[in-house]
Amino acid sequence: MTRRLFDEDSYIALFYATVLKCEKCENGYCITLDKTAFFPTGGGQSCDTGKIGDAEIRDVFEKDGEIFHIADRELIVGKEYDCGIDWDKRFSKMQNHTGEHILSGLAHTHFGCTNVGFHLGNDEITIDFDKKLSDIDIAFLEMRANKAVFNNLAVKAYYPEPSELEKMNYRSKLDLKENVRIVDIFGVDLCACCAPHVKSTGAVGLIKIVDFQSYKGGTRLYILCGKDAYEDYVQKSQTVREISVLLSAKQSDIDLAVKRIFEENAALKVQISEAKQKALNSAISKLETGKRNLCIFADDFDANQMRQLANKAAEMCEGICGIFSQKQNSFSYVITSRNIDLKTNSQKINAAISGKGGGQSTMICGSAFADKEAIISFIENFEV
Ligand SMILES: [Zn+2]
Repeated sequence: MTRRLFDEDSYIALFYATVLKCEKCENGYCITLDKTAFFPTGGGQSCDTGKIGDAEIRDVFEKDGEIFHIADRELIVGKEYDCGIDWDKRFSKMQNHTGEHILSGLAHTHFGCTNVGFHLGNDEITIDFDKKLSDIDIAFLEMRANKAVFNNLAVKAYYPEPSELEKMNYRSKLDLKENVRIVDIFGVDLCACCAPHVKSTGAVGLIKIVDFQSYKGGTRLYILCGKDAYEDYVQKSQTVREISVLLSAKQSDIDLAVKRIFEENAALKVQISEAKQKALNSAISKLETGKRNLCIFADDFDANQMRQLANKAAEMCEGICGIFSQKQNSFSYVITSRNIDLKTNSQKINAAISGKGGGQSTMICGSAFADKEAIISFIENFEV
């Protein structure tokens, strides 16, 4: 059985170990060692990566109580190698994992929550509680969690005797009675856990609940601790700084400045809508009566205005009514008619105005690439 160095001291990053077995497997070579600091995937936490000699270790897993390291090259059985885990990654996981214990312990004490899910991935860290928590509950939880960090409480991991374990009130997902590893965060949490943690809460640095949502009748928390929380703060600080410059507002006032912009935007939308309606009414009032076909250029009109004007124009003439609006190198068009089937005539119309588009028998829409004079001449003289 491999000696579990991560169990004895979570701060061991470099160590010597002898290869006991090396077998070719699907993803490389499957290695077992006499001792290892590589923590295998388990308990919601991904495995350590690193090196055994020159071999890259990308996967470590446990099966039937044995720890297997997947190496990218063959290693010599019986030889002792210098080994190292990727410490930055491991330490970050220890910060996040310990932070998770602190939050879960406090949520259990203060809100009676049970942790029903934990995921410590490379991109996202989530904790699922079985109870709904409010904004105020979350703020309280975060404040108390960081207080536990600032108080630099001892974090101990040990295997109590069964008789001692029986008397302990600890959180656990499994109903084990023997060989239970207890992680004790002084006065904050008592939990069965096999993963490596920091040795005192101060090393967690910072606990930030970056988001939360209702999840399966309870609450899912998205958290960042330590280095991850710091990097998130750096990125968000930069964003806040840039927004404050853009808004010419103090960093602490950017929410108010954004609210003001939203209000101004809403008022402008009303003004634009009123101006559009006014322009449409004016265009409708100028529609000529008594002409067989109508061709109107309304360059500032949007698609909705063009359709409304075209429908009004269709009521005023027997033939076809074309509304055109200048785009970069073409015209948008809406053509309507009460009496002529535009669907069957669309090919002929598009050919004449170098256009593409289609629609229903009473209205077709599209783009025209012919010049203005050619369009006017064709529409005004249109005959079936
Ligand atoms: Zn743990």
